[in-house]
Amino acid sequence: MARPHVFIWWDEFDRQDLPCMCMRCGKKKARWTKWSFEKGVYKNMRNYRRIRKTEIPLCEEHAGFLGFAMITASDYDDEKGVWTMNVHEDFQAALKKHRKAEVKAWKEEEENENADPDDIDDEKLPPGLRREPEKPVRSKVGFFLGMGFFAVVMVIGVIIVLSVCGMFALILGVGMMARRQQ
Ligand SMILES: [Zn+2]
Repeated sequence: MARPHVFIWWDEFDRQDLPCMCMRCGKKKARWTKWSFEKGVYKNMRNYRRIRKTEIPLCEEHAGFLGFAMITASDYDDEKGVWTMNVHEDFQAALKKHRKAEVKAWKEEEENENADPDDIDDEKLPPGLRREPEKPVRSKVGFFLGMGFFAVVMVIGVIIVLSVCGMFALILGVGMMARRQQ
C-alpha cells in the first residue's frame, strides 16, 4: 500500500517533539528507539550510502530487532529533515494535530502575536509554520545520466550492427553478381 511520504524535521526527533505513538502501527504505547535513516548519494559516478542516526517512537513490538518497523527515508536533507515512508495513518493524523496545537500555542505567545512567520528564521518557528524544503532530485540526475549513456551506447551499437550487416550484404551481393557473371 503506497502511503504519502511524510516530512519530519530533525529537531522534532531531537527534541522528541512528536506524538508518542508507534510510527509503524499507531499504537499509543510507544518508546523512543534508536533509529537510523539511510539514503543513496550519487557522487563521482558512484553510489554511496549515507546514514543519519536519531530516535523515533515505536511500540514494543516494532522496536525489537525482528520488528520490521520499515520506517525508511525516501530521501533526507542533512540540515532540515527526512521524508519518511511507511508511516501509519494514525501517526500522520496525530502529527498534523500536534503541529497545529503547537502553532496555536506559538501564536498565543505575546511576543509572537503580531509576528509575520515570513520574517522569522525557520529554526525559530514551530514545525507547522515552516516551509518544507523541496525534495532534492540529485539521485535522479545520476539515473538520467546513466539512461543517457545507455541510450548513446545503444544507438552506436545499432549503427555498428547496421553497417556491418550492410557491408556483409554488399559483399554477398557483389559475390553473387560475380558468380553469375562467371
Ligand atoms: Zn507498532
